[in-house]
Amino acid sequence: MSIKKIELRQHVDLKGLTTIKIGGPARHFFVAHSRDDLAEISKDTGGAWYLLGRGSNLLVKDSCIEKPVITLGEEFDYLRADNETLEVGAATPFSRVLNHCLKSDLSGVHNLAGIPASCGGLLRMNASSFKREISACVTEVEAMDKSGTISRIAKEALFFGYRASSLKDSIVLRAWFILHRDTRVKNEVRNFLKIRRETQELSLPSCGCIFKNPPGTSAGFLIEQCGLKGLTKNGAQISRKHANFIVNVKNASYEDVDYLTRFIKDSVYKKFGIILEEEIERWG
Ligand SMILES: Cc1cc2nc3c(=O)[nH]c(=O)nc-3n(C[C@H](O)[C@H](O)[C@H](O)COP(=O)(O)OP(=O)(O)OC[C@H]3O[C@@H](n4cnc5c(N)ncnc54)[C@H](O)[C@@H]3O)c2cc1C
Repeated sequence: MSIKKIELRQHVDLKGLTTIKIGGPARHFFVAHSRDDLAEISKDTGGAWYLLGRGSNLLVKDSCIEKPVITLGEEFDYLRADNETLEVGAATPFSRVLNHCLKSDLSGVHNLAGIPASCGGLLRMNASSFKREISACVTEVEAMDKSGTISRIAKEALFFGYRASSLKDSIVLRAWFILHRDTRVKNEVRNFLKIRRETQELSLPSCGCIFKNPPGTSAGFLIEQCGLKGLTKNGAQISRKHANFIVNVKNASYEDVDYLTRFIKDSVYKKFGIILEEEIERWG
């Protein structure tokens, strides 16, 4: 690599940077501290990279990851508030946005309480919770494409679908949201978090739901109907609490999780004739 003055670390363990605590070392790991860094890395790598947010939707192979991995540095972690408008850097953890919303009684994105993600990752995935998508309140996104060109894109010019967006091949740099005051926010968040605790396995490492919900039903329900809750492969287990979660009970490997996902797909197809589609992204 010919890149100069850019923070490049070698053999960074991705295991510690994913919420499911699985993954091998990244041979080249770039921390981008500016837009210039990003443009240069993109150019130097020919646009062939992985972009890491908070690692909460990733299943990474245990072997060395050869494709360069980029993450956004602390320069992209900020929140600027102007009444009901928020400008948020892409590396900002969503928990920080939520805390601001709680302090200021701001409603609009609080349904996503408890998702351990970065704002860039949430937008890229168009994450949703309790029937509300992150895109609902976004007004504009600034993103860099693989050629290093930066554009500010109005919401109307973006595509947002179920766990999908037109930001797939871009690097989100920052975004603007319009929220509104509502004194019910604190109570609602308390309730959302309570439901999460009751229905999801949050004390063990996971990457949230593994599969998308097929039209008209939920993947968790189908998996549960196949009697798969608690099924274990070495250190990985189909959660006893939420069948669409695979949890890392003890030093699980990529192969363990892969085995369980294949087992789930086969079982659901045999019983219901439905092909489950993965929501998680695989690297390596
Ligand atoms: C306990 C738990 C609960 C969860 N609950 C939910 C839920 O209720 N609803 C839901 O939708 N998801 C949920 N998830 C999944 C996950 O949090 C989301 O998919 C989230 O959007 C991923 O964000 P991230 O920052 O962790 O991205 P990563 O996992 O690091 O990356 C995911 C994708 O986003 C891309 N990406 C990351 N940053 C950027 C950026 N700046 N610009 C462009 N692309 C970027 C990555 O390249 C990758 O393609 C949950 C996960 C966990 C572990």
